[in-house]
Amino acid sequence: MRFDVITIFPEFFTSILEHGLLKRAIASGHAVIRLHDLREYTDDRHRTVDDRPFGGGPGMVFKPEPIFRAVEALRSEVQEKSFPVILLSPQGRLLTQAVAEELSQAARLVLICGRYEGVDERVAENLATDEISIGDFVLSGGELAAAVVIEATIRLLPGVLGNEESRQQDSFAVPAGRPSADGHGLLDCPHYTRPAEFRNWKVPDVLLSGDHEQIRLWRRRRALEKTWRRRPDLLAQVSLSEEDRRWLEALKT
Ligand code: SAH
Repeated sequence: MRFDVITIFPEFFTSILEHGLLKRAIASGHAVIRLHDLREYTDDRHRTVDDRPFGGGPGMVFKPEPIFRAVEALRSEVQEKSFPVILLSPQGRLLTQAVAEELSQAARLVLICGRYEGVDERVAENLATDEISIGDFVLSGGELAAAVVIEATIRLLPGVLGNEESRQQDSFAVPAGRPSADGHGLLDCPHYTRPAEFRNWKVPDVLLSGDHEQIRLWRRRRALEKTWRRRPDLLAQVSLSEEDRRWLEALKT
């Protein structure tokens, strides 16, 4: 999968691309990430990317021309012209695991990072095919948001995670054969590792028992319980077994 990031701070990404999963995904050829300096697409001596807002008010706004030029240059490189062009914006649709799944199906994504007061609205209206927000808060720029989209998407590409099973068990993942109305699963169950006792806090006995069926049941119940307590909105969408329902009823009483 190829990512083209349009930004005024390409160096912002160097460190995250050199660690952990992203580094491995790039080294193994699962992902290609190209950083494009928006200033390369300006045509004045000062390489101006922003200007004052029409109508007055504080701050600066990204001009449309360099962004259009950058995306059009990327389109002209390839036969397939219809790849998603995503504007990172707090006004976009919220990034969720289901949205990450959807994005991971594309062969190529363009990510446009805004700064200052944002981006001339004509980019959202006439160039971007999608706007994505990483949450209901405002960042100073789209770079961190683009990095979040890239990481959430890349870890879903087949072969990128060493252990595909671990992905199936993650929070929000929808296990095979258990569809949910909005594509969301439960929160993950708690995890523990050695030592079995740490400062008087003991790991639940069942995890040390070696009884796989009991462990499976315990994990499912803890996942249901956590989701019920913290994110009942997710629980409403998940397809539950009879066994799950009985446990939830027991919790509620
Ligand atoms: N005035 C704008 C915010 C501009 S923040 C508004 O209130 O809607 C500057 C840039 O940071 C945005 O153009 C966007 O690219 C990025 N950004 C800020 N918050 C974001 C979020 N929650 N998700 C994705 N991108 C965000």
